[in-house]
Amino acid sequence: MSLDRSIAVIGTGTVGAMALWQLSQRGVTDLHGFDTYAPGHDRGGCGGQTRIFRVAYKEGAEYVPLLQRAKDLWRSLESESGADLLTLSGGLSIGPHGHPDLEQILHCIREFDLPHELLTREESNHRFPHLPLSEGETAVLDKSAGVLRPEQAVIAAAEQAQRNGAQLHTYTSVDSVRPDAEGVTVHSSQGTHRFDHVILAPGPWSRELLELSSLPLSVHQITTFWFLAKNPEAFAKEVSPIVIRTGDIAFSCFPAVDGETVKVSLHSFPRPHLDSAEKIDRNPGRRYLAAVREAVETHLPDLIPHPVRIGSYADCFTPDNHGVIGSLPNLPHVTVATGFSAHGFKLAPTFGEVVADLATAGETGHSIEHLAPARFF
Ligand SMILES: Cc1cc2nc3c(=O)[nH]c(=O)nc-3n(C[C@H](O)[C@H](O)[C@H](O)COP(=O)(O)OP(=O)(O)OC[C@H]3O[C@@H](n4cnc5c(N)ncnc54)[C@H](O)[C@@H]3O)c2cc1C
Repeated sequence: MSLDRSIAVIGTGTVGAMALWQLSQRGVTDLHGFDTYAPGHDRGGCGGQTRIFRVAYKEGAEYVPLLQRAKDLWRSLESESGADLLTLSGGLSIGPHGHPDLEQILHCIREFDLPHELLTREESNHRFPHLPLSEGETAVLDKSAGVLRPEQAVIAAAEQAQRNGAQLHTYTSVDSVRPDAEGVTVHSSQGTHRFDHVILAPGPWSRELLELSSLPLSVHQITTFWFLAKNPEAFAKEVSPIVIRTGDIAFSCFPAVDGETVKVSLHSFPRPHLDSAEKIDRNPGRRYLAAVREAVETHLPDLIPHPVRIGSYADCFTPDNHGVIGSLPNLPHVTVATGFSAHGFKLAPTFGEVVADLATAGETGHSIEHLAPARFF
């Protein structure tokens, strides 16, 4: 199968790499990816060792079909590349009984008949003693959830695309994208290029591209902390679910994919705003450290409550925390994919498929109304 078109993906990070992979499978004859860095780099959306995959989605039931498709595509990428990317260790959502997040998760479970277990405090503590629930809390186990390996995933997608004929321009920054009636002119640090269609997926660097200035995007820093486990075997990815805890102290907690450290990401602490993804402050400050230590001491007693490693990364946000996929007024022949608001990784292969549909056919069979750029115009 071949498709006689020239298409460029600007930003081969998370969603861009998946789009490149999907387009390469469709046999696009002249396919290019541009990135300021290289696939799997540690500044944007794919840094930090692990990402949560879950299907019963507190962010909205409209995501469930996209997530179910994503699971199939993660498996396809694994079988094509030979990489081990997704471990379905289960996902334990913990919170006060009746918390709105838990109610939304249960709504998804009922609407789509998703595999799950409802656990009382006693049942959950018996099964997962290293992840204890407090008085008045319940847990929902999403059996389709698990842990993704983000750097490996992005590298696998980019490599598969190259194997299928795509050209990757690493360490090549794009300065401008100028569409006209026939196509798009792209200016990069390598020179000037001409394409039939361009996909813009610059993640937390979106605000630096003039072409995206009409979108209400912001950039935030997300800091994650790794702790040594007193009993690392209890946190092994084969037996320990990912955890999402809601309530006054909210965080996510990951299995020990390296066999010894457990990653914790605090949700109940404001994420610092950044002027630019290049301005990540890798020192979280004392208040942030105190808050994450309190979370660990209160809810994860099997971890030594002093981080052995800290990592900070950037992501791009929209005002309603839903991403943006589609075309913008005055930007013909350009598909935009950005603003994934700290929950885009698990969905990335589906977003890549959607973007590939839009770039090659001008439409997609996926329901993505909630991601339409038109909601901001
Ligand atoms: C610490 C952290 C934890 C997260 N946890 C989860 C999770 O558990 N589950 C989940 O689903 N999601 C999670 N997310 C969210 C998810 O990772 C992001 O939403 C997603 O990775 C964003 O992908 P992206 O393609 O938009 O951006 P990126 O992956 O950052 O890709 C953008 C790429 O564009 C390149 N670029 C930018 N501008 C240019 C230019 N002008 N020229 C050339 N190249 C350019 C950049 O170098 C970069 O490689 C998390 C995010 C962070 C930061």
